[in-house]
Amino acid sequence: MTKLIFLGTKGEIEEFTERHQYHSSTVIMSDSVRLLLDYGMLQRYSLEEIKPDAVLITHAHPDHYSWLKKDIQTDVPVYLTKETFDYGKFRPPNAKVVLPGQQHQIGPFQWSCYRVIHSIRCPAVGFKIRAGGKTFVYNSDLVDIVEKDSVLKDVDYYIGDGSSIRANLVRRRGDTFFGHARITTQINWCRKYGISHIMFTHLGKETVREEQKFAQEHSDVVLAYDGMELKV
Ligand SMILES: [Zn+2]
Ligand SMILES: [Zn+2]
Repeated sequence: MTKLIFLGTKGEIEEFTERHQYHSSTVIMSDSVRLLLDYGMLQRYSLEEIKPDAVLITHAHPDHYSWLKKDIQTDVPVYLTKETFDYGKFRPPNAKVVLPGQQHQIGPFQWSCYRVIHSIRCPAVGFKIRAGGKTFVYNSDLVDIVEKDSVLKDVDYYIGDGSSIRANLVRRRGDTFFGHARITTQINWCRKYGISHIMFTHLGKETVREEQKFAQEHSDVVLAYDGMELKV
């Protein structure tokens, strides 16, 4: 059995509600092996409490990567790109630098990272993870996926960027885009690629404000909340 545990579900916003107090951080667990996806500044649990077998970091923004500002000592391997490794003030002692497209195996998980468009200074990746016969993609912050066709093909679970429902958070500098895609845009991608389970973490201001209304209008889409567990 594979299980998703959403430890934190908010983006980098000041506001918080009882359901969204901690930065987005998710455990995916299979055969009692745990991967922790992102570990930002605002966390309910320490790494000793979460006991992950590995940590996978999407990018070096403070809501995803604690080592940006804090020296956390741990033996747990922390997988991250060279850009993220080079960016932070501190570095995980057991850092493993990975490249987009490289295949990795940790216990029952087969996974790789892929490029997303999100930030100019802190290039980001998403993760494609296979376990228990299911395929998950996790991209908590993105404007777009660079190789969308190959990444979103044959995916069962999409875990996306909940920063905004309809508000435009895409910014542009010259030819370069950065920021966050709307939830509605990402739902359209999922429909196009036939992804049946759609969920969002990293909720932003508009999403938190309109959470109930959104849930009524989209009963087939899940907005995660802190502490939510899902057997898949
Ligand atoms: Zn973020
Ligand atoms: Zn970010």
